[in-house]
Amino acid sequence: MTEQTAHILVVEDEAALAELIRYNLASQGLRVSIAPTGEEAEMLVAEEPFDLIILDWMLPGMSGLELCRRLRKREATQAIPVIMLTARGEEADRVRGLSTGADDYVVKPFSVPEILARVKALLRRAAPQRIADTLQRGDIVLDRAAHRVTRRAREVRLGPTEFKLLVFFMENAGRVLTRQQLLDGVWGRDAFIDGRTVDVHVGRLRKALIRGTDTDPIRTVRGTGYAFSTDAV
Ligand code: CA
Repeated sequence: MTEQTAHILVVEDEAALAELIRYNLASQGLRVSIAPTGEEAEMLVAEEPFDLIILDWMLPGMSGLELCRRLRKREATQAIPVIMLTARGEEADRVRGLSTGADDYVVKPFSVPEILARVKALLRRAAPQRIADTLQRGDIVLDRAAHRVTRRAREVRLGPTEFKLLVFFMENAGRVLTRQQLLDGVWGRDAFIDGRTVDVHVGRLRKALIRGTDTDPIRTVRGTGYAFSTDAV
């Protein structure tokens, strides 16, 4: 992933939050620029193409909503996926954000895995060639396009949910993930399932991954959730 890396613009006036997002996207191999105001974002967007924009609603000067409206009016920018960051939880505001042309929204405070999952889902739709088709962690290799997982030479057979679960684990390797984060990231926020369903699917994934004598890359974190790691297991 060098010249093909997706370029993401983060429009956020809170410097620490912008940096947190930048750091985490960069660690996934994505290129990130930051604009602290809508006005600066407009200038950057006029200068170079972006594959995705993460846009804070509440900005000094031009609001995120207004910037989104402007982006949608121009031919050069109307197709760029936009994720709106909002501190407002009201349904009406969310709907307003989406009707202005945002593709998705994330409510503050959000978790890093949540925003990563949304960024990747949108990029996969809008610019599939810009994100890596293959994930590798330790001896586990996952091919997104072919929907295929191998561990050393062995093919690991997974159902569709276990496959999505493994993608999410591999993208967030080394992190402790709560059942809620797994639910949001794999099933989506509006799914009507509970933590026990997550446990069932994690159990199946585990069984498929460790068949034979392979080590278990999934660690149960008591009272919290799970962590995936292929380091020193
Ligand atoms: Ca703000």
